[in-house]
Amino acid sequence: MVKEIVRDLIFLGQKAETATKEDIPIARDLLDTLAAHRERCVGMAANMIGERKAIIAVAEGNALTAMLNPVIVKKSPRTYKALEGCLSISGEREAERHEWIEVKYRDINWNKEKRKIMGMEAEIVQHEMDHLEGKLI
Ligand SMILES: [Zn+2]
Repeated sequence: MVKEIVRDLIFLGQKAETATKEDIPIARDLLDTLAAHRERCVGMAANMIGERKAIIAVAEGNALTAMLNPVIVKKSPRTYKALEGCLSISGEREAERHEWIEVKYRDINWNKEKRKIMGMEAEIVQHEMDHLEGKLI
């Protein structure tokens, strides 16, 4: 179900809790909401739809991927400065991002996944994971 986008900075500043298997419907709503905003949004965190759970959704080309409880297990030593926008906050802000990351997470079927992600997708995952920490960029 497509949900309303949260713009309350106090709510968005709160850390997300660990997701459980029962939270899979939230991941589905997050994918639906990302799909609805796809033309100006490439990723979303669950707190942006009012759910304080560690779930993100990321666009990888035409495919939308949900990641529950994502953890970065490895990252490139090299970083770069990115200019990022956010559907919940107006304007753009600078962030330091790793060129690639290796992430482990549960997928929408609660299967364990581990992947190396590079480039734009890696930047999106890092931005959305900041949301889970209550960090706004
Ligand atoms: Zn954002």
